[in-house]
Amino acid sequence: MNNDSIARLLRWYRHNRADLPWRRDASPYQVWLSEVMLQQTQVETVIPYYQRFLAAFPSIAALADAPLDAVLKRWEGLGYYSRARNLHRAARLLVAEYNGALPSQVDDLLKLPGIGPYTAGAIASIAFGRSAPLLDGNVIRIYARLLDLPDDISKGATRKKLWRIAAEWLPELGAGEYNQALMELGQKVCRPRQPRCAECPLRYNCRAFAAGTQAARPVRSKRSPTPHYDVTAGLIRDEQGRLLIAQRPLEGLLGGLWEFPGGKREGRESLEDCLRRELREELAIEVEVGQRMAVVDHAFTHFKITLHAFDCRYRGALPPYSEPQALEALDWAWVGEAELEQYSFGKADRQVIAELARRREMLL
Ligand code: SF4
Repeated sequence: MNNDSIARLLRWYRHNRADLPWRRDASPYQVWLSEVMLQQTQVETVIPYYQRFLAAFPSIAALADAPLDAVLKRWEGLGYYSRARNLHRAARLLVAEYNGALPSQVDDLLKLPGIGPYTAGAIASIAFGRSAPLLDGNVIRIYARLLDLPDDISKGATRKKLWRIAAEWLPELGAGEYNQALMELGQKVCRPRQPRCAECPLRYNCRAFAAGTQAARPVRSKRSPTPHYDVTAGLIRDEQGRLLIAQRPLEGLLGGLWEFPGGKREGRESLEDCLRRELREELAIEVEVGQRMAVVDHAFTHFKITLHAFDCRYRGALPPYSEPQALEALDWAWVGEAELEQYSFGKADRQVIAELARRREMLL
């Protein structure tokens, strides 16, 4: 990218940049938070979460002070919960080792949990004005088109090449604005489908535009089909009508969130057998499985599930225990339906809770 192109890009950005809350005199903490929230998530979805999260945890120190449960609760519904757990861990590390402030250098940022090359580049360049390149999906698409790159961008070697190019093309001054301009151009103009080349400030230097190959760039090898799993969950009630919920282990999918206990169907077992087996393994309990109460489809990044939630009656703990055991869970609790709001659940379980509420209303 030459100086003329950069000047045109920045002019375009200054006229077209969206007015976003994290762009208004943002502190490094706010830039970090917004960048983490924006990973895999649309801007419109992020804005209310960002504002609520910041109101609850206005500084790195406040975030470090908060219990993980409170952090997860503010993240509930945004998905990819490892982001929240890593933010929290990193905040505690920053308080313990960096006086509660983010470092400004990419190398130091990369040592923090949840900060990879993209986020480090974004924080260093946007929050601290450092000359740091970055690559996200938008920037990769633009570079692949500007170069009319025939290489597969899912390959490590291509990524390396693109990082090199990102560093070479970075202007000496104003890297933060340049990086943001590219990302915004990718969202608004150089879109994955039907790029608006006629409005693009980079069209004079775009090889894909000249060759008419925009639709074929970037090249990405075909992904294998997304696997699908059937998952069961028990709405297990005791004699007082309370529900048994379990907290997922911290490591792994939806770590630290609460759920209606259960798990993935194995082989050709029936859903009811699956649920009974999972409850023995997870909590060492026996239940009587009743009617299927809700069926929820949900997609994660690399797989899809159908969650089957069954009404269950608690029969007791497996000998020698007298109560549920957190064997494959972090914790468990008996709670009234009204108390479920106080716990953080994933999206699929939230739909089951909405179904419970609908059923309660119908019975009134
Ligand atoms: Fe993308 Fe078209 Fe601009 Fe090239 S000219 S960078 S393909 S929008």
